[in-house]
Amino acid sequence: MIYDVAVVGLGAMGSAVLQHAAERGLSVFGAEQYPPAHTLGASHGKSRMIRKAYFEDPAYVPLLRRAYDLWEQLERKSGRPVLRKTGVLIAGRPESAIVAGVRTSAELHGLSVETYDAAEIRRRFPMMRPLDDEIGVLEPDAGVLHPELAVTAQLEVAKSAGAVARFSTRVTSWDRAPGGAAFALRLDDGSEVRAKKLALCLGAWLDPAGLGLPVEIEVRRKVQAWFAPTGDAFAAGKCPAFLVDRAAFEEVLYGFPDFGDGVKAAFHTGGEVTTMATLDRIVAFEKDVAPIQRALDAWMPGAAARSRMASVCQYDMSRDEHFVIGLHPGDPGVVIAGGFSGHGFKFAQVVGEIVSEIVVDGATHHDIGFLSPARFAGIVR
Ligand SMILES: Cc1cc2nc3c(=O)[nH]c(=O)nc-3n(C[C@H](O)[C@H](O)[C@H](O)COP(=O)(O)OP(=O)(O)OC[C@H]3O[C@@H](n4cnc5c(N)ncnc54)[C@H](O)[C@@H]3O)c2cc1C
Repeated sequence: MIYDVAVVGLGAMGSAVLQHAAERGLSVFGAEQYPPAHTLGASHGKSRMIRKAYFEDPAYVPLLRRAYDLWEQLERKSGRPVLRKTGVLIAGRPESAIVAGVRTSAELHGLSVETYDAAEIRRRFPMMRPLDDEIGVLEPDAGVLHPELAVTAQLEVAKSAGAVARFSTRVTSWDRAPGGAAFALRLDDGSEVRAKKLALCLGAWLDPAGLGLPVEIEVRRKVQAWFAPTGDAFAAGKCPAFLVDRAAFEEVLYGFPDFGDGVKAAFHTGGEVTTMATLDRIVAFEKDVAPIQRALDAWMPGAAARSRMASVCQYDMSRDEHFVIGLHPGDPGVVIAGGFSGHGFKFAQVVGEIVSEIVVDGATHHDIGFLSPARFAGIVR
């Protein structure tokens, strides 16, 4: 059999592509080197922030609007509660890039946000300790996605739509099969699969040089940590998720309220540069967790009373920190979805739609020119 499309990598993005391509009626094969919803990629850790007033670039806002719709549809189709609207507070001095960026994005796109001075933050969220010169921008519609549930839901809906997925099986190589009309993928179980198109959703395993892509991806080691708080003031429903830009912190701090397994926090910026072959997955408390605990304690005293657990994850950073989605500039049979630069999860559903449109039509109706893999070579497609 020759599949219409083979998806390599079934993390957040690949499982969404598998789902959307199957729902469009394509015959779809997916391969993943680890078990479903595993913890060795970037799509694990119980929480991922979703917000629309996007400080990274207002150009993402239309994609986020569509992502919200699609997450709701996924919840209905799968019966799994994937998204919880907790609100997200972005705090820092008014000139902070993230604070100013949220306000610009909200203004440009008419999004509903509320801006508070420090006194108002303390009044509304007494567990928080903003400095006098800090402000906060609350986006009430923002919230938290559950990554493992979301990936599971995407895989389940893909399967019901007819997709075939193989787990704990690595794709070791691929090339054009004789005749050139299809790709031949070799898997480490010794089998070979053929498909007309390839969607590469490899996360930090993407090797741009090996694929002849004019893209650089830097892998960064990230640690996410959970803490037992002193009381229930930090519970979801009382406390929003947050991002705080404060010079006294080592990096930009973000975190989530307690959903029952503690307050989770991590640094968004920074992180040791590494590779997937050398990534150190062992957490060292003093180096990895203590700085997060100190920052969280300064932002919300009592939230980080006791360290509960921590895990290592990775960001796949593109040079400009924007995603890399589109046709391979040298092969119109290959679609790339990578370089999600530590902020991709919330988009997975719309990425699934985009990649499946590109597979079928060679293009998408979404405005994603700014994410083209060709942009680094100065070629605009
Ligand atoms: C700590 C942390 C916090 C984050 N917080 C947020 C957040 O709050 N909000 C947000 O929107 N985003 C966030 N992100 C980013 C987001 O989680 C990622 O952008 C997203 O999960 C990337 O998904 P992916 O499918 O590209 O990568 P992955 O989930 O890593 O999937 C790639 C998959 O490809 C598989 N694979 C690779 N090579 C092969 C092969 N040869 N054969 C078979 N399978 C292969 C891998 O095993 C892996 O499962 C965060 C990331 C981290 C690490």
